[in-house]
Amino acid sequence: MRGLMQDYPLTIDAIFRHVEQHYGDGTIATAGPDGITRTTYAEWAERTRKLGGMLDTLGISADGRVGTFGWNSQRHLELYFAAPASGRVLHTLNIRLFPEQLTYIANHAEDEVVFVDRSVLPLLWPLIDTMKTVQHVVVMDDGGTNEIPDDPRVSDYETLLADASPVDFYVSDENSAASMCYTSGTTGNPKGVVYSHRSTFLHTMGVMAPNAFGLGIQDVAMPVVPMFHANAWGIAQAAPAAGASLVMPGPMMQPQALADLIVNEGVTFTAGVPTIWQGVLPHLAGRPHKLRDIGCGGSAVPKALSEAYREQVGLPILQAWGMTETHPVASSGVLPKRYADADEETKAAQRSRAGIPFLGVEARIVDAESLEAQPWDDSATGELQVRGPWCAKDYYNPDAGVTLLTEDGWMRTGDVAAMDAYGSIRIADRTKDLIKSGGEWISSVDLENVLMSHPKVKEAAVVGIPHPKWDERPLACVVLNEGEEATEEEILEFLRPKVAKWWLPDAVEFIDEVPKTSVGKFSKKDLRSRFAEYQLP
Ligand code: ADP
Repeated sequence: MRGLMQDYPLTIDAIFRHVEQHYGDGTIATAGPDGITRTTYAEWAERTRKLGGMLDTLGISADGRVGTFGWNSQRHLELYFAAPASGRVLHTLNIRLFPEQLTYIANHAEDEVVFVDRSVLPLLWPLIDTMKTVQHVVVMDDGGTNEIPDDPRVSDYETLLADASPVDFYVSDENSAASMCYTSGTTGNPKGVVYSHRSTFLHTMGVMAPNAFGLGIQDVAMPVVPMFHANAWGIAQAAPAAGASLVMPGPMMQPQALADLIVNEGVTFTAGVPTIWQGVLPHLAGRPHKLRDIGCGGSAVPKALSEAYREQVGLPILQAWGMTETHPVASSGVLPKRYADADEETKAAQRSRAGIPFLGVEARIVDAESLEAQPWDDSATGELQVRGPWCAKDYYNPDAGVTLLTEDGWMRTGDVAAMDAYGSIRIADRTKDLIKSGGEWISSVDLENVLMSHPKVKEAAVVGIPHPKWDERPLACVVLNEGEEATEEEILEFLRPKVAKWWLPDAVEFIDEVPKTSVGKFSKKDLRSRFAEYQLP
C-alpha cells in the first residue's frame, strides 16, 4: 500500500516563498566600515526575485554555476536564494584560499559569473583570466576605495538590479543541485560537495530544531562562520526559514566588532569556529547581552573555552560536529537529560563531546578496514561513519580513486571517535592527526584540551614527530597568554597527573601563534611542515 500524501518537492524556492509570505517584517542588518545597513525580509525578497531576473539577463545557463566571493551580507543572502531558486547552482568561493586553489576550484566547477565584494576585489581580479569559464564579474559595493577595473566583463550589482525584472521561482526536481562547496583536504586537489534542494531543505529543518540551533521567530541570529565555509553551517537558510532576524558581520570580523554586534544588535544565537570565540571572549566578558546559545564546531571545542564562557559570559558553548560533506551540521553536544542534575565538571565533559546525531543522520564507529562494528562503551574507538539525506554520496567529478562511501553505503568521515552507550559521539581525532606511538594511538585533541586548560596557555596544538623507536612521539606547540612566561617542565608537570604516562609529549615548543587554515582552524599541516626536521630530545 502506498501513502496518499502529496509529492511536494522540498526545494529552496519553497523556503523562499515561506519567508516572503510570512516573515516580511523580519530584519537583516549588515555591518560595514561605514555603519550598519538594514533591510526587511520583504525588501530582501523583492530584490532576490529581481536578482533571478539579473541572472537571466546576464545569460547564465539553466543550471550554470554562480560563484560568490564575499563576506556574510544581505547581498550574499540574496544570492543564496536567487541562484538555486532560479535553477542555477550557487558556488561559494573561499576568499582566504591560495590563488592556485581558487583558480582550480572556479575552473573545476565551471563558474560562469562571480559576484564579488568590492572590499575583496583585489584578491579575485588578478586571477580572473585564469578562470576560464567566468564571463561576468559583478561587483557588490560594500564600501572602500578599491579601484573597479574598466573591463567589459565587470558590472555593478545595484545598477544591474535596478534594471532587472522580478521572476517567479519554481524548481520541480528536489534532487537537482542547489549549491556547491569545495573542501580543502590535506592531500590532492580540493573536492567539490554538491548539495541538492532536498538535502538543503532537510538540513535547514535539522538545524532549526531545538537539539540543534533551535531557531525561532524571536531569535536574532548572527552567523560568524563565513557563508563560504560549508554553507554558513545552514544558518543563512535556517534563520530566515524560522522567521529569525539576521545580523551579518560583513568584513567586521575583528573580535571587538563581533562582541559589539552581539551586544548592540541583541543577538540571541551566533556560531563560529573555536578561534573566533577565543578572540571574542575578553571583549564580551561581563557585558550585558541576550545570547541564549553560541554554536561552535569545525574543530574540537576546548573544554576550558566553553567553561570560560559559562563563567564570564553566562553561558557555555554549544558544540556541533560536522563536515562539508554533511552539509555540514550532523550532531550537537546538547546536554543529555541524564546529566541535568550533574555537577559542573561532568556537564562540561558532556558538552565537550560532538554529541548526539540529529534526526536524519545515523552514525556508527567501525574498524576502518574490516568495517567491524566497535562497541559503544566510550572507550573503544573506530572510524566515524554516517549516513542520511544530507550526507554526501560522491564528490563532483573527483580525481581518480577518490571515493566517499564504504561498500555498504556509509560515508567515511576520516574522524576517529568513541560512542557511549547512548550513541553520543566523542571525537578522538582526525585519522591524519592521530599520533602513532609504539603501535598505539595518542589523541592530539585530548592533549590539546588539557593543555588549553592551563591558565597561562592561550592556544596549543600537538603534532606527531617521527621517532626511531616509537614511530612518532608528540610535540606540544604552545602559545602563552600575552605577558606570561612558562617553562617546558611547568607545562609537562601540569599534564602529568591528567594524561596517561606514555601520552606525555616528548617536548614543548613555545610559539607565537598556531598557524590557521583558510577557515580559521588550527593548521596541523603547517605545524608539521614547520617542525619537519625537529629533533626530539
Ligand atoms: P576541512 O577539511 O577543510 O577542515 P571541514 O570544514 O569540512 O573541512 O572540516 C570537517 C572536519 O572538522 C571534521 O571531519 C572534523 O575532523 C572536524 N570537526 C568538525 N567539528 C568538530 C568537532 N565538534 N570536534 C572535533 N572536530 C570537529
